[in-house]
Amino acid sequence: MRTDQPTVDLRAYCEARYPQVVVLPGANPSCGPGWNAVLTTAVDRMAAVMAARPGSAIYLEQVKEKYGTLRIYWYGKAMTRRQHRRIDIIESLAEERSGCVCETCGAPAYIRVSESGNVHTACDAHSDDPPEEGKGPREFTVTRPISRRRRISEGMTYDFESDRLVVLSRRTETNSHWKRKRLEARLED
Ligand SMILES: [Zn+2]
Repeated sequence: MRTDQPTVDLRAYCEARYPQVVVLPGANPSCGPGWNAVLTTAVDRMAAVMAARPGSAIYLEQVKEKYGTLRIYWYGKAMTRRQHRRIDIIESLAEERSGCVCETCGAPAYIRVSESGNVHTACDAHSDDPPEEGKGPREFTVTRPISRRRRISEGMTYDFESDRLVVLSRRTETNSHWKRKRLEARLED
């Protein structure tokens, strides 16, 4: 694996290709070059989501490593709820993948913790620190509204081979917060 290449100039990359994906000044990635492919894959996917709706755009405010994984902070313009959801998924995919790929060289890697508590993702060649406790595919929950009354809650995990989120469980919940609001509104009438 090469380690002599710089971190991708994401701003120039998007400027040259994707008018609907704007990397704001100062938002070029501050992470290592091992994540270049993770970054370009993420913005390629974002561009495809934006292209479906002319006039919409996504603005990347910050792209950095935090607690060992990649974080992308963004806001949208003229985006639909569906676009928002798809971007959220793309962001999760990039974050999960970065936790499996060495930030220095791009080789398969683990999230590791140094003696001083520094959390980083590295291969065996680039870190002597032990893997984070409980390593392995993380499970997390994504909740989205499906109507004004109900929402769907999905337990997910990340599959490295297919670079996809896999749904492990799915359940529909009544939005009790929304119901309470309705009740309060009625009582005030
Ligand atoms: Zn490495």
